[in-house]
Amino acid sequence: MKPTVAVIGGGVVGSLIARELTKYELKVVLIEAREDIATGASGANSAIVHGGFDPVPGTLKAKLNVEGAAMMPALTEELGVSYKNNGSLVLAFSEKEMEHVGKLYARGLENGVPGLSVLNAEELHRLEPNLSPKAVGALRCTSAGIVCPYSLAIAAAGNAVDNGAELWLASPVTAIEKDGESFVLTCGEKTLQADYVVNCAGIRSDEVSRLIGDDSFSIKPRAGEYLLLDKSEGDTVSHTIFQTPNEMGKGILVTPTVHGNLLTGPTALNIGEKGNTATTREGLAFVRETAAKSVPNLNYRAVITSFTGVRSVPDQEDFIIRFSEKDPRFLQVAGIESPGLSSAPAIAPYAVGLLAEAGLALTENKAFNGKRKSYHWFSSLSMEEKNAVIRENPAFGRVVCRCETVTEGEIVEAIHRAPRATTLDGLKHRLRSGMGRCQGGFCTPLLVEILARELDRSPMDVEKGAEGSKLLIGKTKGESV
Ligand SMILES: Cc1cc2nc3c(=O)[nH]c(=O)nc-3n(C[C@H](O)[C@H](O)[C@H](O)COP(=O)(O)OP(=O)(O)OC[C@H]3O[C@@H](n4cnc5c(N)ncnc54)[C@H](O)[C@@H]3O)c2cc1C
Repeated sequence: MKPTVAVIGGGVVGSLIARELTKYELKVVLIEAREDIATGASGANSAIVHGGFDPVPGTLKAKLNVEGAAMMPALTEELGVSYKNNGSLVLAFSEKEMEHVGKLYARGLENGVPGLSVLNAEELHRLEPNLSPKAVGALRCTSAGIVCPYSLAIAAAGNAVDNGAELWLASPVTAIEKDGESFVLTCGEKTLQADYVVNCAGIRSDEVSRLIGDDSFSIKPRAGEYLLLDKSEGDTVSHTIFQTPNEMGKGILVTPTVHGNLLTGPTALNIGEKGNTATTREGLAFVRETAAKSVPNLNYRAVITSFTGVRSVPDQEDFIIRFSEKDPRFLQVAGIESPGLSSAPAIAPYAVGLLAEAGLALTENKAFNGKRKSYHWFSSLSMEEKNAVIRENPAFGRVVCRCETVTEGEIVEAIHRAPRATTLDGLKHRLRSGMGRCQGGFCTPLLVEILARELDRSPMDVEKGAEGSKLLIGKTKGESV
């Protein structure tokens, strides 16, 4: 019988670990508490593939960031996920900050980051003409990039399923018992017997760890608020623009996104409640004011949405990737704060390597296929190719989301292809429907109709995202829906 590995948490880390495990003859079960993949930190972050000059040399963060950033282009290509190698700049506004830039440069060299250089004011402003004239120089990193984080997690989980993994959504792990050498996990309504467990539960990884009596670390939530600007502003800067970092993080950035928008944020505020993703008037005002220091003429009339991501801040400096002292087959992959997204491609083989050292037999799965087609593919075809697809299936000729050119054919596919989109947010994260300038103003009723039809439910039961987030609550006049 194949050994069973349970991976708890369907963020980018758990999803990539599950995919990595399917390269071997194992039973892999990816268990996620929520209704979809990437609803935690992996769904709301800055989406930067950091070069790796920030982490302290010798740490796991430094090693896995540099390795992960180098792996990201090929991995995203394989999984059909958007990635762009746009490079980053850390601005200095004084000679003192230039000294810090010099330190980051030296640290980057020690970490083995490729493509680093220190720019003077003239070189900097030639590269990015919309920056504040007060910037006196910068650290440039040509190996940094931007990626679509939730697409990466969803594609990784989907590819794991393509290669034989089981995906248990809406299955929170609430208890873990031992039965001899095996673990017995209570996952919502179901139970799973597993030989190894990998804890990738993000902000709740300390709570999952306590289920086996391990309270060796704790995780605190730290909120980061953002403003997203319309595509009209997407070429204000071409690089990711950082300010000199401080002890709370990498400061407020201004960056293009892979989809052509402009993103500013995040704040860094320690909050009490782990699930609190509210934005605040003060936080967003802080983002505007602080981003203006780097790029003074940002057009905030073009803001299309705001959102908050919550960091998992551990009570120790480095990523926590080690076996629990309570059980040598329970692998903690916790405290994965930034640069966790950048590091995730390298965390996956590192974690699987540790499992092998602990005795997990790794026999190659010769049928493994790492390639996966994007959910949002129709608009990239030539006119002739589009016509051929529409002749075959007229649903591809009906554009439902006009801002992002999403067809009914792609929506139906996304609802039926693992991991299936079953909510409005699920469609949004796979296809960008409702993510354009109108923010779903035109397409939401159509999307609800298609979800209801394909899932064979009443439109009254279609949800935005989390359980209970109903979109329709009753009728105003006429027949009930
Ligand atoms: C504001 C912000 C900005 C960031 N910017 C960047 C950046 O630009 N670049 C970068 O490299 N990194 C960045 N990061 C860090 C990066 O987002 C994270 O490191 C990464 O997403 C962590 O992934 P994860 O899979 O560990 O956690 P998550 O994505 O949070 O996934 C954990 C999953 O576990 C599930 N779960 C929890 N409890 C249970 C349970 N009991 N049973 C089953 N499932 C459970 C959750 O529902 C969740 O889906 C940022 C983070 C934030 C918040």
